[in-house]
Amino acid sequence: MKLALIAHDGRKKEMVALAGEFLGLLGRCTLMATGTTGGRLQRECGLQVECLLSGPLGGDLQIGARLAVGGVDAVVFLRDPMTPQPHEPDINALVRACDVHDVPCATNVASARLMLQALQDRLGPG
Ligand code: PGA
Repeated sequence: MKLALIAHDGRKKEMVALAGEFLGLLGRCTLMATGTTGGRLQRECGLQVECLLSGPLGGDLQIGARLAVGGVDAVVFLRDPMTPQPHEPDINALVRACDVHDVPCATNVASARLMLQALQDRLGPG
């Protein structure tokens, strides 16, 4: 299972907490993340994560490009709806790519929890 993880600055703390809840599952997945998000997941959760470029520098686009050729099975994208983002077009492109290719994309903690729980149920006990 190849998972992509992205959190805007206002959501990074929640991403780390969410990853802590699903450490068992995430430890069995191939993880990629935008740069800063990935660094925090490595340091604070001890997860092995491939860190791509930071979101504003093209990380969302890298994930979208992989997703378009089957390299991503699900996305957790904790967006901050209260803060304008300089790379809004990239964000829209990634969410659009998820819709085009029918890849699950959870954009808030509640939906991410449902998605990760479903993946965990599907993968069975570690
Ligand atoms: P980051 O990128 O993980 O490098 O902060 C996410 C974003 O802000 O789009």
